Amino acid sequence: MSAADLRIVLLGCPGAGKGTQANSLCERYGLAHLATGDIFRGEVAADTALGREVGAYMKRGALVPDEVVNKVVAAKLDTLRGGWLLDGFPRTLPQARELDRCLEGAGHKIDVVLSLQMRPEEVVRRMSGRRSCPACGEVYNVQSRPPKAEGKCDKCGGALVQREDDKEATVRQRLKVYEEMTQPLVAYYRARGALREVDGSRSPDEVAQALLGIVDPIVSSRSGARA
Ligand code: ADP
Repeated sequence: MSAADLRIVLLGCPGAGKGTQANSLCERYGLAHLATGDIFRGEVAADTALGREVGAYMKRGALVPDEVVNKVVAAKLDTLRGGWLLDGFPRTLPQARELDRCLEGAGHKIDVVLSLQMRPEEVVRRMSGRRSCPACGEVYNVQSRPPKAEGKCDKCGGALVQREDDKEATVRQRLKVYEEMTQPLVAYYRARGALREVDGSRSPDEVAQALLGIVDPIVSSRSGARA
């Protein structure tokens, strides 16, 4: 089995850096990146029926109902060949069970669940500085990764905005929802020995190194087993 067949779930509270780390993991191991938040934001931007349904939940920092999310993910997983990384899914126990069901049906299993740990106060500080470019999706942080010209995207020159759900009150609400609904997944995956935890408060490069330190050995043990 090659690295391309890896199946990874990335867990972490809002602001823990899942998106950034997901991008580098997917690039390194040739994985498809399935980010439910990005899918939903795309639907909202295109003003589709699904977008109108999920937009209201997202705006107030609530979760989109499991039935809606499960349907979207099951359909996507069906189209993917080879390895993938799930970012932002599962987020509740019913979603985790649905994922198990889909994988069982396809004869697949999750290789590792990577959990990025962070303290809530640190998250609030980090997210209040987050800005993104609505045109190309590039993400900045006024404290740790400012654009070259204030308020302007380095890549495409678009005007940077603060995501509606990155405003402080909504961030606090999202953290509360994470604690209640998603934190239980840490125990769920730990109990089956699939969980590996990493400190998400360090720099993106340090977090990336820690993640590679976990995933590289999984890949080499597989190629060793195959040889
Ligand atoms: P973050 O991890 O920074 O909170 P995401 O981009 O993953 O942000 O998700 C943004 C929003 O999209 C969530 O606050 C939620 O409303 C909705 N969403 C994304 N994934 C899911 C999911 N698996 N279940 C329910 N809602 C979801």
